[in-house]
Amino acid sequence: MKQSSQCAVGIDLGTTFSVAAYLDSTGRPLTLINAEGDTLTPSVVLLEDYEVVVGKEAVKAMGSEMERIADCSKRDVGQRMFHKALGGRQYPPEALGGWILNKLRMDTQKQLGAYHKVVITVPAYFDEVRRKATQDAGYIAGFEVLDIINEPTAAAVAFGYHQGFLSETGAGAQRRNVLVYDLGGGTFDVTVMQIDGREFVALATDGDVRLGGRDWDQRLLDCVAEEFVRKYGLDPREDPNVEGRLWRECEEAKRTLSARQRATLSCEYRGQTVRLEITREKFEELTLDLLERTAFTTRQTLQAAGLEWSDIDRILLVGGSTRMPSVVRMLRDLSGKEPDQSVSPDEVVAHGAALHAGLLLTRHAGRAPRFQIRNVNSHSLGVVANDPQTKELRNAILIPRNTQLPAEAKRIFRTRKAGQKSILVRIVEGESAAPADCSQIGRCSVRDLPPGLPARTPIEVRFRYRENGRLSIRVKVTGTNAVLEHEIMRENSLTRDQLNSWRKYISGLPPLAQIVSEDA
Ligand code: ADP
Ligand code: MG
Repeated sequence: MKQSSQCAVGIDLGTTFSVAAYLDSTGRPLTLINAEGDTLTPSVVLLEDYEVVVGKEAVKAMGSEMERIADCSKRDVGQRMFHKALGGRQYPPEALGGWILNKLRMDTQKQLGAYHKVVITVPAYFDEVRRKATQDAGYIAGFEVLDIINEPTAAAVAFGYHQGFLSETGAGAQRRNVLVYDLGGGTFDVTVMQIDGREFVALATDGDVRLGGRDWDQRLLDCVAEEFVRKYGLDPREDPNVEGRLWRECEEAKRTLSARQRATLSCEYRGQTVRLEITREKFEELTLDLLERTAFTTRQTLQAAGLEWSDIDRILLVGGSTRMPSVVRMLRDLSGKEPDQSVSPDEVVAHGAALHAGLLLTRHAGRAPRFQIRNVNSHSLGVVANDPQTKELRNAILIPRNTQLPAEAKRIFRTRKAGQKSILVRIVEGESAAPADCSQIGRCSVRDLPPGLPARTPIEVRFRYRENGRLSIRVKVTGTNAVLEHEIMRENSLTRDQLNSWRKYISGLPPLAQIVSEDA
């Protein structure tokens, strides 16, 4: 066992699979293996009364204990509770993410020795609320989260490393535009990055938090189920365990169809059986609209970056679902270029996260490849304001999407009456003018205004959007020296006490003196 208090570890907390990687003594990223001996850990949690099982063994239980299984909990990150009760109890998605990360921590500490600092990845498209929840999941798992990093950025960094751009001699090379197409199990992300020497600049990003390999599986599953209904008037989807078993079969068949022209599926339910042979062609037909959705977003993102296909030097394939031949073909047709498959699509994100962790840790220690990241925000950030003309509430956008981070914006609010003690700022994220259609990040109530302020005193509220997509707020009362750092009261977020008790419960570890994820 190594001594590794400074070990640089990055974790890709995926919707369907999670991966951990670290930097070896030469600064090279390597994937870690879990207790089962695998590099990929299914992000599936089984909650028994007497134990919690994470990963492959939890997946096996999908055919028999579906009512106790949390699957794709990342899709619910940002919500107060996971959409389904497990064994009669409701859990916040942070706790489910916490269990997954805790398994990775326990398993990898066997190889690395005790370490606590990590970088965790998030889809670029994650909004502020989901980023905060991801950091909280890391905290619950017993980690100190050094930073979060966007998955496509991490992928580009790892790609840059493997291409030698981060080495002493590789830096200073020409500027390259890379399009990162990441189709995982539950989310889709596309990002245009510029790699300029050792600088990684995101130009534009877009995606869909509800589109991924699972949707391809579901099409196969529905196809079998509909055949069942046609033949027997029975729907196997009525029984969650039967559905769970059928899903596993469909996922397998989908993988087969990436390698072969046909696959067979069978389903048994209430003594009846359906066997179905599916050709790759049929499968592609069943899922064409899903692929089209990714093509549409890809074209739009390229446009948002102000680039044409001829400007793109590489198309980087990330995510297990890019193994589907239809994805490669679609991108080839769209771009007229051959997509790059030189890096492992399931490991590249974790490698980038480990490189980022190395960078953050070497600020103290002094090793590992150096590079710089510049991000854009994936959603516009605004405040809820009263429109003086219509008297209606609207989203006043302060920082438009695809702005380079860190970004700052300020807005002047005015007190309504003399001697006013507080003002309330409501922060929203989204493109719509109607606040109700945006994601409610939270409120910031400025309570400690100096006494005796006249009516209509200007109050300057300054937003700082950091490189990692987290937000902080600073309030200044014009004409005074009062500057107040304000914590945002977040919607659906766990309190400090709740975080600490989940941390104790799941990781067995005491609270950190300061909650890192709260230092925004
Ligand atoms: P996430 O980051 O969302 O957890 P991953 O990048 O690990 O996802 O990709 C997982 C998805 O990739 C799953 O939906 C899985 O079925 C799919 N996948 C993995 N290998 C293949 C393959 N050979 N053919 C088709 N799909 C695959
Ligand atoms: Mg992924």
